Amino acid sequence: MWLVFMGPPGAGKGTQAQRLAGYLGVPHLSTGDMLRLACQQQTPLGTEAGRYMTSGKLVPDPLILQLIGQRLEQSDCARGALFDGFPRTLPQAEALDKYLADRGTPLDLVVELSVADDVVIQRLAGRGRNDDQPEVISERLHHYRQMTAPLVEYYRRRGLHRLIDGVGTTDEVFRRIAASIEHQRRSGGQQPIAP
Ligand code: AMP
Repeated sequence: MWLVFMGPPGAGKGTQAQRLAGYLGVPHLSTGDMLRLACQQQTPLGTEAGRYMTSGKLVPDPLILQLIGQRLEQSDCARGALFDGFPRTLPQAEALDKYLADRGTPLDLVVELSVADDVVIQRLAGRGRNDDQPEVISERLHHYRQMTAPLVEYYRRRGLHRLIDGVGTTDEVFRRIAASIEHQRRSGGQQPIAP
């Protein structure tokens, strides 16, 4: 199964994405994690990407597409993947579509966790990190909304987008996500998998 996972900072996206990848039996591909690793290893791509990351900017599309393209060639991605933090721009979404269409395995679903701004601000403020100050949180949320709005529209038009209520315990939210995916699998004629 090929799935894009989206959600604002503080929505519990990382935890859910990891759990969901395990449930689906596909690798969890976080471009943020991959970039941080490339920075640590001081690869040419990592060094260049690092310059953007430290100033809070998006890494240019060609670098991201090179990184994700290399990762998708690995054998564990043969049956699908869960994308986390990617795509972040329309050209990235279009490139992913083209890549998957060429393989004959189109994207199955885009899951977006929905959490109201005041809930996100409350949750993040509780973590006490430097970038979790209220003004910075609002700024990050604003960027997130700006960035994702066109992507949500892009996927919604193709009937792939599912909005999941991200408020509740980890288990409650996970059950909602899994139910939405199983519904999609059934309507797609595929066999459900055991929870
Ligand atoms: P994340 O861990 O997903 O918040 O990503 C950390 C940083 O890596 C971001 O602030 C961006 O600078 C960069 N990054 C991660 N994924 C992407 C992407 N798909 N496109 C552009 N930049 C990205």
